[in-house]
Amino acid sequence: MLASAFNQMTTRLKTLYEDLRRSEEHFRSLIENSSDIITIVNRDSLVLYESPTIERVLGYPAGRVRDHLLTEFVHPEDIPRFLQALDQSFAEPLRMLSVEFRFRHANGAWRVLEARGQYRQHMSGEPGIVINARDITLRKQAEEDRVRLREENMKARSEFISTVSHELRTPLTPIRGYVDVLLMGAGGRLTDQQREFLQTIRDNTLRMRSLIDDLLDVGRLEAGKITLTYNTLYLGDLIQHEIRLLQAEIDRKEMQINLDIVHDLPAVQADSKRVSQIFVNLFSNALKYTYNGGIIRVRAYCDDAETVAIEITDTGVGMSPEQLEKLFTPFYRADNPLRTEAGGTGLGLTIARSFAHLHGGDIVATSEQGVGSTFTFTLPIKPAPRQQVQVVDYHGNGHHPDSEDLLSASTGLDADGTPVFDTADDPDATTPAKPIE
Ligand code: ADP
Repeated sequence: MLASAFNQMTTRLKTLYEDLRRSEEHFRSLIENSSDIITIVNRDSLVLYESPTIERVLGYPAGRVRDHLLTEFVHPEDIPRFLQALDQSFAEPLRMLSVEFRFRHANGAWRVLEARGQYRQHMSGEPGIVINARDITLRKQAEEDRVRLREENMKARSEFISTVSHELRTPLTPIRGYVDVLLMGAGGRLTDQQREFLQTIRDNTLRMRSLIDDLLDVGRLEAGKITLTYNTLYLGDLIQHEIRLLQAEIDRKEMQINLDIVHDLPAVQADSKRVSQIFVNLFSNALKYTYNGGIIRVRAYCDDAETVAIEITDTGVGMSPEQLEKLFTPFYRADNPLRTEAGGTGLGLTIARSFAHLHGGDIVATSEQGVGSTFTFTLPIKPAPRQQVQVVDYHGNGHHPDSEDLLSASTGLDADGTPVFDTADDPDATTPAKPIE
């Protein structure tokens, strides 16, 4: 009985051993044929095992890496990151190690490896990390190329916008100047019809200038070329000043303006040109998209201890929830009954919000179709630390097309009676504006 039991056990053991051998062979072949390199390293990054794949992927013959520190092959700049990941894996055995690093190929070139690892005890009983690494150099290169190409495209596009805008803007100054001179009567008495035609040319020149200024701002924002010039700003004064400049339009549309500026509104540190531009954009929109005789309410108050808010509410055409969603998309103009009369580029709000963001502030809107809209522009009282160090290098005009400087393009006649045009408000002009001969 004993002999037969031994025989049975031996047969069973043989089968088990055979199963084990087959299973080991199976896993070995999986490891050896996998495109991943499998290594086991100890706490010091000493390689206890390396899979033969290393020869195919990294050019090292079997055994060349074993008993060496893995860090000998890792790019010096990536060693701290690699060791930190390794330490973490030993400290938290359940955690999956995940790290990217450069590894020297046997031919000396650097390859980028993406590695995942898990704590395991080595056969010897020594604690180790099984690292599964994959060569992702080509993928990395493709990603970098894509990013570089996208950046180059953006740069080329910004440069194109900027060049075209400059070129379009330059002749506008003398056109506007000549029209002003004619309107002043320098070319002789004008009939009512001539005056009307000239006024139309002038209005359209202003619109074109406004579009070009928007395009220039978009180009600068995209190229990250806008930096803020900080000064102390009294928002109450700024609001009243800008509203005064728009008084003619307010009167024309017989609008009622309600101002509610808290008396102890703190001064803010901000770029006055840009803040004016944001306010004028929001206020002009309220004017444009409200029927004659409507009401615009401007509130300025402290949102919290660090933020001030300017809120502009109108009783205008309003927007549907779908329109509101697309509001800050470049060139988006919602369909509404005042759209054609209002005119515009659909760039104003995109630009305004980018400027608000540059300040660390924001613009948000609520609206109800047929009832009206409220735009709230928040601004930090003190600039965020990132903004404080910015240098003054921006030369753009930044004023709204309706503001004073645009309305006084010509500065008069010279000794020969030739109109002289002041291009001081046109610092982006690539060539000085000259009257047409
Ligand atoms: P623009 O006024 O030049 O078209 P904006 O970027 O300033 O461009 O505004 C984008 C669009 O948002 C406008 O075309 C208009 O449809 C909508 N909008 C902006 N402000 C208001 C407002 N106060 N009331 C209703 N619609 C508005």
